[in-house]
Amino acid sequence: MKIGIVGCAGRMGRMLIKTVMARPDARLIGGTEPMGSDFSGHDLAALAGLEPCGIAVNDQTDILFEAADAVIDFTAPAATRHHGELAAKHKTALVVGTTGLTDDDQAQIITASRQTVIVQAANFSVGVNLLLGLTEQVAARLGDDYDLEILEMHHRHKVDAPSGTALALGEAAASGRRVDLNNVSVRVRDGQTGARRPGDIGFATLRGGGVVGDHTVMFASDAERLELTHKAQSRDVFASGAVRAAVWSKDQPPGLYSMRDVLV
Ligand code: NAD
Repeated sequence: MKIGIVGCAGRMGRMLIKTVMARPDARLIGGTEPMGSDFSGHDLAALAGLEPCGIAVNDQTDILFEAADAVIDFTAPAATRHHGELAAKHKTALVVGTTGLTDDDQAQIITASRQTVIVQAANFSVGVNLLLGLTEQVAARLGDDYDLEILEMHHRHKVDAPSGTALALGEAAASGRRVDLNNVSVRVRDGQTGARRPGDIGFATLRGGGVVGDHTVMFASDAERLELTHKAQSRDVFASGAVRAAVWSKDQPPGLYSMRDVLV
């Protein structure tokens, strides 16, 4: 399985290099960064702290998509949109971990998935994918007298909020309650907000330090509080899941898949 990594010098990109190189069933064939990047020409393996492998970072994305069986993308929304187009053009599988996509970006990914396999997840860890299922189940069992709040904390460099994972947990909870998240979500509270509306799903965001990703789903009634928490200890868990998804994509027909499809 020939795998390319776009955004290979990023926090996730470097972890992905290490993970692909450790798998016997996958071969790293290239990595890109935007034109003019300081990392252009650097050895891919050296970026990940390994012995040099003789493949240099470049900005030739079109060529990477042409040569790869699957490309893994943990970059930024505008870049991901372009990568979706290239995946469709070359019929190359694409694994999307980038979060913060607009509805328009997402529509482009859906269009691209008619031509090729796209696996997209706001979180590639096994634990969070279990948590999505648990959240849906608990939300279905507990009524609106249990207020539902989702709290997340990430490192100081994260640029989107709430996290894609927090929003996915919100979608899972809304699905359990059979409501549309758009009608019940409260993403920010500030000033004279008034009392909490029954049935709302609230989000709270913390940013600081090097936190890889903590998420808690709270169900709070007058009498008790149930909290489901996941804490990622290392980016390794996301990289392993994303590479597993890339290898899994090999025999699938075109379509948009989630990590839950990969894990069944
Ligand atoms: P980062 O800023 O460290 O890395 C992003 C990299 O992408 C940078 O090196 C940047 O130069 C590169 N890039 C941007 N545009 C590009 C382009 N057009 N072509 C090639 N490279 C390009 O960020 P990060 O912490 O690695 O996170 C990246 C994304 O992944 C974020 O959206 C984050 O929320 C998401 N993320 C998802 C998961 C998950 O499991 N789904 C886990 C962690 C992070």
